[in-house]
Amino acid sequence: MPTSRTTLDPENWSDLRALGHQMMDDMIDHLSTIATQPVWQKMPDDVRAHFTTPLPASGANLLEIYDDFSKNIKPYATGNTHPRFFGWVHGGGNPISMLAELLAGALNANCGGRDHAGIAVERQVIAWAAEMVGMPPETSGVLLTGSSMANFVAVLCAKYRALGQNGRENGLQGQHLTAYASTFVHRCVGGALDMAGLGLSALRKIPVDSDYRISLPALKTAIAEDREAGKIPFLIVGTAGTVDVGAIDDLTALATIAQSENLWFHADAAFGALACLSPTLKARLAGIERADSVAFDFHKWAQITYDAGCVLIRDPAIQLATFSQPTNYLAPAAALAGGAPWPCDLGPDLSRGFRALKIWMTLSTYGSAAFGAIVDKSCALAIHLAARITASPKLELAAPTPLNIVCFHVRNFSDEQTAALVANLQESGQFAPSTTVIKNRLAIRAAIVNHRTEFSDIDALIDEIERRIQER
Ligand SMILES: *Cc1c(COP(=O)(O)O)cnc(C)c1O
Repeated sequence: MPTSRTTLDPENWSDLRALGHQMMDDMIDHLSTIATQPVWQKMPDDVRAHFTTPLPASGANLLEIYDDFSKNIKPYATGNTHPRFFGWVHGGGNPISMLAELLAGALNANCGGRDHAGIAVERQVIAWAAEMVGMPPETSGVLLTGSSMANFVAVLCAKYRALGQNGRENGLQGQHLTAYASTFVHRCVGGALDMAGLGLSALRKIPVDSDYRISLPALKTAIAEDREAGKIPFLIVGTAGTVDVGAIDDLTALATIAQSENLWFHADAAFGALACLSPTLKARLAGIERADSVAFDFHKWAQITYDAGCVLIRDPAIQLATFSQPTNYLAPAAALAGGAPWPCDLGPDLSRGFRALKIWMTLSTYGSAAFGAIVDKSCALAIHLAARITASPKLELAAPTPLNIVCFHVRNFSDEQTAALVANLQESGQFAPSTTVIKNRLAIRAAIVNHRTEFSDIDALIDEIERRIQER
C-alpha cells in the first residue's frame, strides 16, 4: 500500500474494509470445504523461490499480496485442519478461535502485565484449566507457546523448590539435580533440563511396563541409587498421554512416591489433560489433581488455533519466586501499572500476545462438554481403527491403543517400505499419518486429534493402505 504518509492506516478505510470482508468470506469457504481439499501438498520449488527475495524497500498493492497468499501460501499449509491428517499430535483448530485471532489482533494487547482486560481473561482461562484438571482454585499459571515451554517453566519451578533463591543467584554450584520420567517421555522434557542448565543427563529415563507406563519399582530403585551416589533427586515427570502410543502413567502412584520422597511431581499432559473433560476417561488421569504442576496444550485436543500452551503451578508463591525480577521500569504501581502479579513475573516472556481471548471465546461458545465429547469420539475412532487393523490379514497392531493413538505395521514390511508407504500417502494428498519406532521397528502412527475426523475417514485410510499393499 504505497503512501507518502507515515501512518500505516489506510487513507481510504472502505477499500480495506471490502478486502477484509473478502478475506473473511474466503477463509470461511476454506474451512467449510476443507475435506474436499488435499490434506497436504509439497510446496513446488518455483513457489518456494518466491520467498527468497530481498527485503522490499517500497510497498505493493495489498490485493496483489493477498493474491500471493491465496496462490502461494494457503495451498501449502501443514494440513492439520483436514479430517484426514493423522500425523504427530496436531489439533484441528476451530472457526471461533480463528475469529478471535482477528479480534485480538485489533486490540493488539500486550499481555506481559499491567491492568487491562487481557490479564483478567487470561486469569479466567487459567482458573478454568485448573478446574478442568481438578487443581485448587488458587492454582496459578500462565499461557505459553506450547507444552515445550510449559514443561520448561515447570522444571524451573521444581528447581526453585529444590535450591531456593540461592539456586537462582548462584546456579547449581556443583550439585547434581536429577529428574525421572519414562523412556517414552517427550523430548522437550530433556530439553527443558538442558535449558535450565542441569544437562540432558539430569534426566533418568525409567523403563516402561507392558502397557508403556513408567515402571514404579524401577523408578524407586533409581531414586535410591541416585541418593546413594550423592545426587539430588528433585523431580518426577509423569506423562498423561505419551506421544508414541498415548499411554498414561499411574499418576496417583507417582504422586505418592513424589510425596514420600519429597520430590516435585509434574504431569506432562500435553494432549491428555483434555481427557479430564470426558466422564468416561477422566478416571484414567486420576492423580493429576495432586501434581505440583501440569503442562498441557490448548492447541491439540482443545482445538484452539496455534499457538496456545498452558502451565499450571499449585503453589503460586513458587511460580512468582521462580520468575519475578524487581525492575524500576516495570514496577507495579497504581492505575494502568496495577494488577500485580503480572504474567511477566510468572514465566520467561515479557511482551506476549492475547492468547487467552481465543481460548476464552472457544470454551465459552461450545462449553466444556463439547470437548469431552470430542475426546470420546477421537478415542472411539482409534478403537475402530485398531479393530480394522486387527481384522486385516495384511496389518498388525504395534502397540496397545489406550487413548487416541494407533501404531501399526504392514506385516513383513521393512522399515524402508513402511517409510515409503507413509511418504507416498502424504504426497498423494489423501492422508497424513506419521511414523514412530516401537520395539526397534518403524511403525505407521495415526493420532486422532481433529474434531472433524469421522468413521468414514478411518475406513478410507485402511482401505487405501490395503489397496496400496495389494498393488505392489
Ligand atoms: C506435543 C507434546 C509436547 C510438546 O508440546 P508443544 O506444544 O509441541 O511444545 C510435550 N509433551 C507431549 C506428551 C506432547 O504430546
